Amino acid sequence: MGVEIRKKLSLVVPVYYEEECILQFIKETEAVLQSLPLDFEFVFVDDGSTDRTVELIKTAAAGNPRIKLVEFSYNHGKQAAVTAGINFSSGDYLLYMDPDLQDPPVEIPRFVAEIEKGYDLVFGVRKEKRDGLINKMFSAIFWGVLEKFTGLQIPKGLAVMRIFNRKFADKFLEYPEQNRFIEGIFMHIGMKRSTILIEQRDRFAGKSKFNFKRKMKLAFDAIFDFSELPLKISVRLGLFLFLLGLIVLMGIVVAKSFFIDFQLGWPSVIGAIILGSGLQLFFIGIAAIYIGRTYRESKRRPLFSVKELTNIKA
Ligand code: UDP
Ligand code: MG
Repeated sequence: MGVEIRKKLSLVVPVYYEEECILQFIKETEAVLQSLPLDFEFVFVDDGSTDRTVELIKTAAAGNPRIKLVEFSYNHGKQAAVTAGINFSSGDYLLYMDPDLQDPPVEIPRFVAEIEKGYDLVFGVRKEKRDGLINKMFSAIFWGVLEKFTGLQIPKGLAVMRIFNRKFADKFLEYPEQNRFIEGIFMHIGMKRSTILIEQRDRFAGKSKFNFKRKMKLAFDAIFDFSELPLKISVRLGLFLFLLGLIVLMGIVVAKSFFIDFQLGWPSVIGAIILGSGLQLFFIGIAAIYIGRTYRESKRRPLFSVKELTNIKA
C-alpha cells in the first residue's frame, strides 16, 4: 500500500492589532483548508501588538499545533513581519494573506489549483477596488510613478493574497536588504508567474494601519530601493542649469559690450543665488538619502528581533 504524500501549505499572516479579526480569520480559513487535500499550518507573526491579538492566537495554538506564532519584541513593520513568516514556514507552498479578511479565504483553493499548474508565484489581482476615491487616486499615482521610476512591471490592482512555492520562498530569503519593498523583491526574483482575479471584501473589523503617512513612506522606500533615477535626474538637471547659466552669462557679456549699457540689479543676483543653492541642496539631499540607506544596509543588522516562538522549534 503506497503512502500518500500530502503537500503542505503554510499560511503566512502578519498581525498587528487584529484582536477583532483574528478568531474569525482562523475560523474561516481553517474551514476552507480542511476541505483541501493538503497538510497546512498557520504562521502568524505578531508585529508588536499590545492588545489581545497574541493572547487569542496563543489560546487557539494551545490545542492546535498547526497554529504557529512568532512574536516580535516590538513593531518592525509589515515587510519584516512577512519576511519572518516566510522564514519560519515549512510548507511546500506558502500563501501570504492579511487577517482582516479583505481577501476572502474561499479563494484559497483557486490559488492552490493555479500554482499546481507549475507556476512559482501566483498573484491575486482585485476584480474591483473597493477603496474611496482618494485612495484609488493615490494607488494609481503610486503604481504609475513606481513603474516609471523602477521599470518593475507589477500587475495593476494587486491584492495582498498570493501563493508561491518553496523554491521561490528560499530565493526570497536570500535577499538580505534591510529596506524591503516586498513587491519589488518578488518581481526581481522573476520565475514563472501567474495572476488570478479575486473578489474583495471590506475589512472584517478594526481599522487600516496604513494612513497617508505610512503609504507615502512605502512609496518612498519603493522608489529609492529599486531606482537610481533620482540620482540621474539630478545629474541631468545640474548639467542643464550649468549650460543655461553659461548661455545667460555669455549673453550678458555680449549685450554689455556691444549693445547697451545697463545696470544689473542686486535682487536678481540674490534671487539666482537662492534658487541655485536651493536646487543644490535638494540634489545633495537626494544623494544623502542613498548614502543613508547604504549605511543602513552596511550595518547588516538582523531584520527582526523575535521575543517568543509558539509551536515552532527554534
Ligand atoms: N501590519 C503589520 N505591521 C504594521 C502594520 C500592519 O504587520 O506595522 C499588518 C496588519 O496586521 C495587517 C496587514 O499588515 O495584517 C495590512 O494592514 P492593513 O489591513 O491595516 O492595511 P490595508 O489593507 O488597509 O492596506
Ligand atoms: Mg487590509
